[in-house]
Amino acid sequence: QSNLVSIAPMLTKLQRDCATPLPVLRHVADAMADDMRAGLAVDGGSDLKMILSYVDSLPTVNEKGLFYALDLGGTNFRVLRVQLGGKDERVIATEFDQVSIPQDLMFRTTEDLFDFIASGLAKFAQKEGGKFHLAQGRMREIGFTFSFPVKQTSIDAGILIKWTKGFAVSGTAGKDVVACLNEAMERQGLNMCVSALVNDTVGTLAGARYWDDDVMVAVILGTGTNACYVERVDAIPKLQGLKSTSGRTIVNTEWGAFSNGLPLTEYDREMDVESINPGEQIFEKTISGMYLGEIVRRVLVKMAEAGALFGERVPEKLSTPFVLGTPHISAMQQDNSKDLQAVGSILYDVAGVAAGAPTNVPLPCTSSLCRINYFPNLGCLGTKSGTGRSSFRKSSVTQCQVNSDLSARRIVVEVCDTLAKRGGRLAGAGIVGILQKMEEDSKGTISGKRTVVAMDGGLYEHYPQYRRYLQDAVTELLGSELSKNVVIEHSKDGSGIGAALLAATNSKYK
Ligand code: ADP
Repeated sequence: QSNLVSIAPMLTKLQRDCATPLPVLRHVADAMADDMRAGLAVDGGSDLKMILSYVDSLPTVNEKGLFYALDLGGTNFRVLRVQLGGKDERVIATEFDQVSIPQDLMFRTTEDLFDFIASGLAKFAQKEGGKFHLAQGRMREIGFTFSFPVKQTSIDAGILIKWTKGFAVSGTAGKDVVACLNEAMERQGLNMCVSALVNDTVGTLAGARYWDDDVMVAVILGTGTNACYVERVDAIPKLQGLKSTSGRTIVNTEWGAFSNGLPLTEYDREMDVESINPGEQIFEKTISGMYLGEIVRRVLVKMAEAGALFGERVPEKLSTPFVLGTPHISAMQQDNSKDLQAVGSILYDVAGVAAGAPTNVPLPCTSSLCRINYFPNLGCLGTKSGTGRSSFRKSSVTQCQVNSDLSARRIVVEVCDTLAKRGGRLAGAGIVGILQKMEEDSKGTISGKRTVVAMDGGLYEHYPQYRRYLQDAVTELLGSELSKNVVIEHSKDGSGIGAALLAATNSKYK
């Protein structure tokens, strides 16, 4: 039996440490605005890099012609083409393809990687037809979304600072990634060129802006997190005289590195110390999808050790870092059943946890209908009719139901909720920080008109509670009047089209 007497105070302490009452949110929003300002003043002026995107003309709707986008951000690269028809016809047609990058290419040379990408792009370009037409005498232009740290030097050039996300390609760091791609396309005999190099948040902003003039901010909440916004050029001291025709530009905040005044727990500190980048990306580690499940796992391990949450021993699988993903904690929070059956099976499936069982040893089920094992306190999971756990038939559950430690599952859900709440509310405070900075610099930006924040990323898209907490925090901070002007809107996969649009607005033929 779990020792609730010792677990309850742990849960209370966790909730206290993670609490985000209004004053904490306000402090985070203020600090975000201050850090933005410091990062705009000089390079290295704050945690926030405030990277200039060199995007100073946003899509208008008048763009016309055929444009491509190439997105390299992880283990897949995506290619897309779009035929733009201007104000009346808008997007006439789009087509896209996705190619997975063979593991070994992540450890080979720059030429190997970019040759592979260029050949994938060449294959995709060969299939062009139908509604897609290139104007005479033009090259096919590409918007290149490259989601690794880059020091951008112009709209179509940027130097790779370092590979991340498991890439260890030799010879790329310090080089212009656009030149690398252009050279690979030349080797392929592919007559295409990069007109815009964009960060994925910038692509999202451009894509959303095409449909809605009021989009001023874009936020990605997926595996990692980042945000960008439209800034006035004269509010960027470090630009030092560089001009933009529109007087505005997009600034990529790299807000994942923010760290000021966040309510952190012992679990966050331990995870950070053991991470590959200790001391870095603290906001990201508190609010983004890569880490929420892992923090929950760390809490559960402590509860299992100190209070026998899952029986006498800590299940071995639960001790493996990152076994519990954010999709799992989100799925557990969607379980509305009285006995939290889904929570039980997820815990069992991913973490080897028989919630509340005094022992970890499965016993064969006595029901003749059921061909699987059950755990003494979890109860029978049902009849196996397929391969996955999801294929257990509910109907047979009653056949061999035994006691299940419901209180343990309730605690697990409570822990998930505590971290989703902190993450969502802090993300909301970060958004308000950006809006606040914009409003302070030019009165009326938010207070006077509708302002849209375009959101994308798997975490925002698939975790309804997180999304609600985020919205709640924004409303609480802005107050009911101001928050009527601020629309937080999901802009699904806008970044691909956004990159192609930025190739159009930055076309070499203008
Ligand atoms: P990227 O890896 O480029 O950020 P996505 O925007 O698709 O890609 O985000 C994927 C991330 O979203 C996953 O790593 C995970 O953390 C989160 N995620 C995916 N599905 C869910 C889900 N059902 N519930 C909560 N978070 C999810």
